[in-house]
Amino acid sequence: MTKKMYDTPMLDQLESGPWPSFVTGLKRLAKDNDMMVDLMGQLETSYQTRKGYWKGGTVGVFGYGGGVIPRFSELKDDQGKPIYPAAAEFHTLRIQPPAGMHYNTEILRKLCDLWEKHGSGLIALHGQSGDIMFQGVSTANVQPAFDELNEMGFDMGGAGPALRTSMSCVGAARCEMSNFDEAKALRTIINDNIDDMHRPALPYKFKFKFSGCGNDCVNAIQRSDMAVIGTWRDSIRVNEALAKDYMAKHGMEKLVNDVISRCPTKALSLKNTANVSRADGISSVAVTDTQSLQIDNHNCVRCMHCLNVMPGALLPGTDKGVSILVGGKSVLKIGATMGTMVVPFMKLESDEDFEALATLSRSIIDFFAENALEHERTGEMIDRIGLVNFLEGVGIDIDANMVLEPRSNPYVRTDGWDEEVEKAAEHKRKIAG
Ligand code: SF4
Repeated sequence: MTKKMYDTPMLDQLESGPWPSFVTGLKRLAKDNDMMVDLMGQLETSYQTRKGYWKGGTVGVFGYGGGVIPRFSELKDDQGKPIYPAAAEFHTLRIQPPAGMHYNTEILRKLCDLWEKHGSGLIALHGQSGDIMFQGVSTANVQPAFDELNEMGFDMGGAGPALRTSMSCVGAARCEMSNFDEAKALRTIINDNIDDMHRPALPYKFKFKFSGCGNDCVNAIQRSDMAVIGTWRDSIRVNEALAKDYMAKHGMEKLVNDVISRCPTKALSLKNTANVSRADGISSVAVTDTQSLQIDNHNCVRCMHCLNVMPGALLPGTDKGVSILVGGKSVLKIGATMGTMVVPFMKLESDEDFEALATLSRSIIDFFAENALEHERTGEMIDRIGLVNFLEGVGIDIDANMVLEPRSNPYVRTDGWDEEVEKAAEHKRKIAG
């Protein structure tokens, strides 16, 4: 028998808009779960008073220093008893999802059953760090719930000043734009550094994210301290049959207005097939009997636009690899930052390649652990100490291809170098007499 529902006039309003409301989901769970009834009572109070009533604390499971987000209700009566007792403890378990978020329905059903048995039934797939968020569990049920999840093969994610649960896009399993094995890269890096996830000892949070191409489906550039993004360094591949299909469906106007003119670097052009350039780095595909789409690959910045709008007709090249960016974060004390590219290209195919990536990730975490101030993210640390010091510290050679954004801000400027060389030569001449 569940408790009677509280009146929730303000929450009810949230169901009146055009979109599905989380309130409908909460009400459904509250039909046979007292914890959710009381959660809705507390939430309605918060809406009425415009105050939050959750405070943190310390809750965990054996052997781990993090992964549980403790939430205790502060709404108490005159005797100090919780006003909404069934939701007085409403902790969250952060659990690592499979790389690429692949589940089968059997596992999803088991996860739902488990959480209805031990917790509130409320699960969020997935948090911004990638976690499966099992929300709403009492302190007493945290350990049994985790033990059962662990039996199923799931492990605790990161919380607090620690390596956070990582994310990779669905990638090679289902996406033709994929340029590396995203799931393998995620598991290699996270398994190598798992101690930093389970025993928080870093100055602040540290996130890895893995996207198979520049579309960056997991927001790695904006939302991770180290972003691994798939790319290629040869020419865009073309498929003439699919390019003609595109033309049959969309026509020349769309090709010109939606594809060619939207290339940010003007690397695309329409040519008479007879006049297509044969120069190195130029590829082309016939779009009509007489005309071809010409791609100047040296000028392409791999923005993915043309590949996205002509699916299958244009595809990433075959010489695939990754670019690595560091220091992204949506809002920092220094403002929002996008990752800075510190490795323009590296191959990621052989075991040695994955080992090199693991070594680099370890040096970056170690450098962050030793040099960041408390509550400072990687991007802020780099901003404070300077990129050159960071690169030296992690052992990356400075390269003119390191950019903050395409076509601007090369960190290696060559203006003035000729004068410097001339000065040095003059000095030498003087010394020689
Ligand atoms: Fe231009 Fe390259 Fe972007 Fe295509 S992927 S639109 S060629 S910059």
